[in-house]
Amino acid sequence: MNLFTPIQEVPRVGKQYQKKLNKLGIKTVRDLLFHFPHRYEDFSSIIPIKEVKEGENVCIQGQIMKIENIMTWKRRLVITTAIIEDDSGKINATWFNQPYLTNTLKENDFVYLAGKITKSKKKSELYLSSPIHEKISDKEDPRTTHTGRIIPIYPTTEGVSSRWIRYILKPLLNQLEDEIKDPLPKQIKETDYLLPVNKALKEIHFPSSLKLVEEATKRFDFQELFLVQLYVLRKKVKLKKEKAIPLPYNNLLEKFVILLSYKLTDSQKKCAWEIIGDLEKDQPMNRLLEGDVGSGKTVIAAMAILNTALSSKQTAFMAPTEILAKQHFATIKDLLSSKKWRKLNIGLLTSEDCKINNRKTTRKRFLEKVGNGKLDVVIGTHALIQKNVKFERLALVILDEQHRFGVEQRANLCEKKGPIPHLLSMTATPIPRTLAISVYGDLDLSLLTEMPKGRKKIITQIVSPEERRAIYKFIESEIKKGRQAFILCPRIEAKNTNKRWSGAKAVKEEYDKLSKEIFPNFKIATLHGKMDVEKKEKTMKKFRENKINILITTSVIEVGIDIPNATVMIIEGAERFGLAQLHQFRGRTGRGKETSYCFLFTESSGAKSSERLKALVSSKSGFELAEKDLEIRGAGNVFGIKQSGIPDSITKSLMNPFLVEKTRNWAKRIIKHSPDLKKYPRLKERVEHMEKTTHLE
Ligand code: ADP
Ligand code: MG
Repeated sequence: MNLFTPIQEVPRVGKQYQKKLNKLGIKTVRDLLFHFPHRYEDFSSIIPIKEVKEGENVCIQGQIMKIENIMTWKRRLVITTAIIEDDSGKINATWFNQPYLTNTLKENDFVYLAGKITKSKKKSELYLSSPIHEKISDKEDPRTTHTGRIIPIYPTTEGVSSRWIRYILKPLLNQLEDEIKDPLPKQIKETDYLLPVNKALKEIHFPSSLKLVEEATKRFDFQELFLVQLYVLRKKVKLKKEKAIPLPYNNLLEKFVILLSYKLTDSQKKCAWEIIGDLEKDQPMNRLLEGDVGSGKTVIAAMAILNTALSSKQTAFMAPTEILAKQHFATIKDLLSSKKWRKLNIGLLTSEDCKINNRKTTRKRFLEKVGNGKLDVVIGTHALIQKNVKFERLALVILDEQHRFGVEQRANLCEKKGPIPHLLSMTATPIPRTLAISVYGDLDLSLLTEMPKGRKKIITQIVSPEERRAIYKFIESEIKKGRQAFILCPRIEAKNTNKRWSGAKAVKEEYDKLSKEIFPNFKIATLHGKMDVEKKEKTMKKFRENKINILITTSVIEVGIDIPNATVMIIEGAERFGLAQLHQFRGRTGRGKETSYCFLFTESSGAKSSERLKALVSSKSGFELAEKDLEIRGAGNVFGIKQSGIPDSITKSLMNPFLVEKTRNWAKRIIKHSPDLKKYPRLKERVEHMEKTTHLE
């Protein structure tokens, strides 16, 4: 038996448990040893029932005298109540909406219950409210297995209990103790007082005290984040060795800035300079331009494109959606057409559409012109990175609202081996500093810290169903002033409803209702993902030209859409969306000089008080909201780290600036000392493994 022994070969596991363990991501003995508890129960002191006091968190041990489910019709709740008795007395316990409890807990069973002692209002009796239970099977001697100890509780799955995991783990841990090699260099452990790996593993699974659990957790948190830092720094070092085409600064850019219908903000100027400065180098730029919704990132992209084209090199500009690609195409055409410099050839390429300047063309001709360098810039969706798209002299890749793009992907876009393109990634997702320097640490950062002048705060309100009429009246008055409105619904149509969507407003039904009953005199249109491309395009064009007053739509308009004349955003079923998404929706308004409004309708009254919606109302800054979102949902969900292959457990450490700083400094020192990690073979192995399994692109 060693660490890489398949889990099914472990005694008492076998085929039967193999599947279940695989579900938990456990395939080898090593995986099991590193399947950590997600919490601990302190069963180390169990108190007699007689001694419990109101408000205390306690653990008791006793026998179930009675247990039953009661239905409360009024609130449609199932309440499970039980009476537990020990030598000293009796107490009630109650659980809400867990009717299945009576399948596992039966009369006469011996149990541990841990929870909070509460006083009932009616009878002013003490009871245990929703306690955690652990059954004591009569074969086991409870005193030696479950008392006087801190018990780890594991993430489990059907048929694999924490109890079972502990039982399998214990002998394995003893047997393999010496095989587990510590990847952390001694010097780091000594300086930062980190436990050796064996000791830490033992304490994680079979703690001798909560203090040591903390020490052990600290060690593994450090290790995980440290490995990520090494991984990211190595990427940065590798990229530094690559070559790119230098694009010298062209002073026609000054003309460009003068010709704009507005003045660039200082922040825009600074970011543009940073980018142009990078483009001049023969090392590939790897830069993230971060600026809140509406801060004016597109114009900066246009400057980079112009500078590239004036050096007779090509740019690929990628957007996440078809609609946004088309908008960028229109904007870039507008911004870059001037008599002051030669006419640029601007192409649009999506899965369904090919255009050069104002003309439709065939895919074949289009690809030819990409390949022979006739097109200066190609704007498009993911269709851009398909194999058959080969640029002649691609020098710059711009990504809008997608985080990154690897060196290999960049190289694939070019025909020959040789220099790789510069990369500019733009995002409105404010990435907290700790995250930026660790997970995104190989990217340089440019921050747009100010909004264009004259922007007003978007007035945001959570509204109740009774206020619907008033809101419609308000829309009417805005439209009469010449403004436009978005109404955003969670889904496209009401039929084929599955449970998840029941009750959610649908675009088609809202359209029928609003166009017939509420606003018969206004022009209303719909826009959603199931419409064909031409229809979508026509609708957007009409909306842009203010030939449509109200656009009923879905989350397809989430990012980037820029219609300065739209001043009202209604979000139906707002509680169904994430905070970042809501902020993006709201950001579709407030782009002009007029005051804009965002109204949030919710489907249930409870949702009205949701933390998320309140946060949206009280804050206008995407940065503040991102921090909130992180608190509420965790970094894994917010930044898509979950999908990347980076362990989810790391997201907690990412919020700890102190740990981030420390691990980063160590990673820098180690890389400096041994850039190829040859002096640290165990670290090298771990990092290389990460390089194989992680996809941060
Ligand atoms: P985002 O950063 O969300 O991509 P956009 O680039 O779409 O923002 O810009 C939002 C709007 O602001 C556009 O209508 C754009 O023309 C306008 N804009 C950009 N920069 C300025 C500026 N310095 N002053 C005034 N308006 C600006
Ligand atoms: Mg944008």
